[in-house]
Amino acid sequence: MVTADDIDALLPQTQCTRCGYGGCRPYAEALLAGEAPINQCPPGGAATIGALAALLQRPALPLNPANGIEGPLLVAQIDEDACIGCARCLPPCPVDAILGAHQQMHTVLLALCTGCELCVAPCPVDCIAMVPRASLADTPPAPTAHDNRERFLAHNARSAARARARAALLTARKQAAGAPQAKGA
Ligand code: SF4
Ligand code: SF4
Ligand code: SF4
Repeated sequence: MVTADDIDALLPQTQCTRCGYGGCRPYAEALLAGEAPINQCPPGGAATIGALAALLQRPALPLNPANGIEGPLLVAQIDEDACIGCARCLPPCPVDAILGAHQQMHTVLLALCTGCELCVAPCPVDCIAMVPRASLADTPPAPTAHDNRERFLAHNARSAARARARAALLTARKQAAGAPQAKGA
């Protein structure tokens, strides 16, 4: 029996959301439930559609242009002169491919960047551009889907740990604010 894991294993794991779902796994689950067509993943393109058609025994279809077109592999490039170091591009990156901190210039780790474009819209000064990976000199090869999934899971684990730590800090501060003052304080 086909499982969501089987389907997910055929998807590129960029988490770009261009399929109309929140990431590759939700699209895999919709495919398993028969709720989504197999032609909605532009990063995977015809190869992924073919693999899904074979696995799910559905007819192959051309990529739905409403979801995007199949193009060359892209990577994000930050105009470091224009970057104001606001760090808004960091949380949306599913694979933590952007290096930087508040008030510091940011840069993209090309070995990790999947080309998902999720960092572009949050940048308040429009200094992130998507360029073909092949157009850059000495660019490392694109990460594999397996690597993308591992980094996405690690990103989610770190985000959840940060959220738990924030919640614990807030609870501690509320308790401290409501606690009676110690004698002599
Ligand atoms: S890579 Fe494909 S399946 Fe994954 S989120 Fe993007 S469009 Fe959806
Ligand atoms: S740097 Fe931007 S384009 Fe590259 S993986 Fe991160 S969010 Fe996606
Ligand atoms: S969102 Fe734009 S300006 Fe802010 S740190 Fe990222 S690249 Fe720099």
